[in-house]
Amino acid sequence: MNEFPQTWTQCVNAQPIPYEDPAAVADAVRRLRHFPPLVTSWEVERLKRLIAEAQDGKRFLLQGGDCAETLAECCSPVLASKIKILMQISLVLSYGLRVPVIRIGRFAGQYAKPRSSLYETRNGQTLPSYMGDLVNRPEFTPEARRPDPELLLSGYQHAALTLNFVRALSTVGFADLHHPEYWELSFFKRAAMPPALRDEYERTTRAVSESVRFMETLGESSHELSHVEFYSSHEALNLPYESAQTRAVPRNPGFYDLTTHFPWIGERTRALDGAHVEFFRHIRNPLGLKVGPTSVPEDIVRLMERLNPDDEPGKLVLITRMGVKNVTRALPPLIEAVRRSGRRVLWVCDPMHGNTQTTANGVKTRDFADILSELESTLDVHSAHQSHLGGVHFELTGDDVTECLGGAAELSADDLSRNYATACDPRLNYRQALEMGFRLSRKLGARFASPGGAEASSG
Ligand code: PEP
Ligand code: MN
Repeated sequence: MNEFPQTWTQCVNAQPIPYEDPAAVADAVRRLRHFPPLVTSWEVERLKRLIAEAQDGKRFLLQGGDCAETLAECCSPVLASKIKILMQISLVLSYGLRVPVIRIGRFAGQYAKPRSSLYETRNGQTLPSYMGDLVNRPEFTPEARRPDPELLLSGYQHAALTLNFVRALSTVGFADLHHPEYWELSFFKRAAMPPALRDEYERTTRAVSESVRFMETLGESSHELSHVEFYSSHEALNLPYESAQTRAVPRNPGFYDLTTHFPWIGERTRALDGAHVEFFRHIRNPLGLKVGPTSVPEDIVRLMERLNPDDEPGKLVLITRMGVKNVTRALPPLIEAVRRSGRRVLWVCDPMHGNTQTTANGVKTRDFADILSELESTLDVHSAHQSHLGGVHFELTGDDVTECLGGAAELSADDLSRNYATACDPRLNYRQALEMGFRLSRKLGARFASPGGAEASSG
């Protein structure tokens, strides 16, 4: 039997999980290996083909969800509202862009978090940092913070429950999305928003709903409409977890990481000779790579060569997260270096992770205006360099949380305490996320429609 290379175990891991008992980890991995995969290699290959089409400007990628999923929020209302907002944004985007949208959730396994510091000290006591529900628990006690290998199994099981519900909803559950009255736009009326913009949102929603209904009356495409595709993704941080579900399959060559369709390597774990890159260079899944403002363009090209040596279409997605202040400085040299390499990539913008700030009260937040502005300047920079932005990546939730500032609802720093619920980074709430979708659709619509927009090379 073809064995997955274990070379990654010899490489430096920039985010080592301080498990205390290696034998218990090995035992959990052995049991996890026995279970069926969460996704199949066929789905993974299909997603790769769709991403290849996005690289050619024929599709657009939307990736979104929580910063950190929690096991406790693996429940119907939370999941349904997350699917609903992703679905709505995707409809608004495909209406504006006139291309189909690939929907990828940060869900069914987004349970492992990199931390800027692996340990946390409070009142003289030092404990491991909370690294997500796949690793430990957030309460500041030695028991809760001890990395628990059994959570590898709980995480897998909750990912399976999540995916089961998502798959069921994607098959027939979306009828209500066809009705504009379910779009909860009423708050825009109260919000301090220019009436022209509000009218435009309402027009877009009506147009989306009408076109969906019109296509339904044609009958033929009813399956297409009631069956929407969602793909799963998460940061592949916890390598024991990923390794347990990485395997050779009967009819496709190579190895697949079958915990998810689309794993990504985070900003903190993308060292060229590090454990994560060594692991993922051996798998066939499409891969995301987060790229921040301190990245060296030549290093990113070397990573592209290592992770995608054959320059396979649809394989690699560069997710830039520069921060609004850094985009015009840091993005152009990266685009140029990638162009000089002649390699294929899909450019996606994550306008969240470079724009995190702390309020005077010490609350981690992000401003809607910064997020939008990073998106807009990223688009402008791509255009100016004859490159093409092919997707977006958001931290969002379908619920009415108060974690990010601004938007039409004008959330202020004083509002944040009302429902600040994230297990990690601040997310756009339902209204902010929907508004972001409208804004983006508007800006992108003009871009895609213009000559050299969707047609431009993906560089
Ligand atoms: C994240 O996506 O939650 C994250 C930690 O991102 P990054 O690696 O870009 O900081
Ligand atoms: Mn995050």
